[in-house]
Amino acid sequence: MVNQDRLLHRARLGFLLLSLLGDAFVLLANDARMLVLVSLPAYYSWTAQIGGKWVQVEPLLPDNADPHHFQFRPRDLQRVRRADLILLNGAGLEDWLKPALRQQAPDSEGKIVEISAGYPRAQWIFDDAESEGNETSSHPPDPSGFPNPHFWLDPVFASFAVSNILQILQRAAPAHADSFGTNASVYLDRLRKLDADFIAFRKPLKSPALVTVHPAFPYLCRRYQLSLIGALEVVPGVEPSPKHLSRLIREIRTHRVGTLFVEPHSGSRLAEQLASDLKLSTDELDTMETGAWSANAYEDGMRRNLCALSRSLH
Ligand SMILES: [Zn+2]
Repeated sequence: MVNQDRLLHRARLGFLLLSLLGDAFVLLANDARMLVLVSLPAYYSWTAQIGGKWVQVEPLLPDNADPHHFQFRPRDLQRVRRADLILLNGAGLEDWLKPALRQQAPDSEGKIVEISAGYPRAQWIFDDAESEGNETSSHPPDPSGFPNPHFWLDPVFASFAVSNILQILQRAAPAHADSFGTNASVYLDRLRKLDADFIAFRKPLKSPALVTVHPAFPYLCRRYQLSLIGALEVVPGVEPSPKHLSRLIREIRTHRVGTLFVEPHSGSRLAEQLASDLKLSTDELDTMETGAWSANAYEDGMRRNLCALSRSLH
């Protein structure tokens, strides 16, 4: 449940984030529709929910963009130039994209906001191995390790992000500030309900332990005190070392993990093999890095995840 303290904290962070933005945004004319480009479906949902009819939200990248030799297609570059705002997750996730933006759309820099940049560092989780995005990251690793970028899979982070996006939109289009505020308040209620439903699911469980394929759920597990035993992949999409695998198998047996959580639509032969060898059932948790780009996609995806966890851990 969101308490008052946390709300105050969020409000302060929102202010900090806005002060980071400086005067980058030009205020829009009253009847203009903002164009906001986003890097992840969660940011699409949050922005569309707040913006309503006054904001057009679009994915920043085409599906299956290649992080290694990325070139904007002319029509995507045009959208980047037209965009009023580009919302990124940050924490290394889109670092591979920055050189392309810098070279191909140098004017875009002032429009970029990384939402995680305003989230308190004490809340960040660091992986000791290379995490997502870092193979192409221009940043040296943090002394604590590589930041795990999957903040959006925590519904309380979602409320933080929505509060920040609200302030950013209100500042860019003050004529619609009231409408944005009303939309955000309705949506924040729904996020609080989502959080409450996760808390209710967790309550009767003694020591729920789980294993995933992709290392995407540490924020969700920390929020609801689920014991995340580990992930099959250390670097997403790369087969783990025999040492990592044997340690994981040992942990699965020690903690009597019953379910391996895989991702929708991305079969991993190794995961199937592991589940069959250890007689684990499998279920799906969606990382929501791809999938539907819609106003309700975030809530729908998180509720599907909640159902999968309930099914498997109760
Ligand atoms: Zn990921």
